[in-house]
Amino acid sequence: MSKEKKNLALGAVAVVVLAAAAFMLFQSRSTAELPSQFVADAVCLACGSEVQANRELTDRPPWKCPGCGERAVCPWMYCYDCQRRFVPAPIKHEGEPPTMPAIAACPQCGGTSTGSYVAEDPDQVVQGDLPLPKWP
Ligand SMILES: [Zn+2]
Ligand SMILES: [Zn+2]
Repeated sequence: MSKEKKNLALGAVAVVVLAAAAFMLFQSRSTAELPSQFVADAVCLACGSEVQANRELTDRPPWKCPGCGERAVCPWMYCYDCQRRFVPAPIKHEGEPPTMPAIAACPQCGGTSTGSYVAEDPDQVVQGDLPLPKWP
């Protein structure tokens, strides 16, 4: 390989590395600014299987179940009062698929200190799960 060709090859490698670095920077920045996806710990009310649902933020539950195909996958909620995980009863609609309430009181203790269940949250100690509501 002549000296000129070698320099050319090194230059090409440098361009690729720079492009990769720029791409990675762009990627991390864009995901930090626009978190459009989240992972929810969810359960299918139709077949009872636990689902790690990777969803768009705009995508409202219930979601389609990868196991049984029903649109019955609902995210777990958490009650800070009795430390249970639960799924609120779906809201039925005439002639339309059921939807899930965004906020719900705990079906066990009636407490309103409830929120989305986040497995990584150290404040959410799970003492148990409440029975799942009936799927319409
Ligand atoms: Zn299912
Ligand atoms: Zn409760």
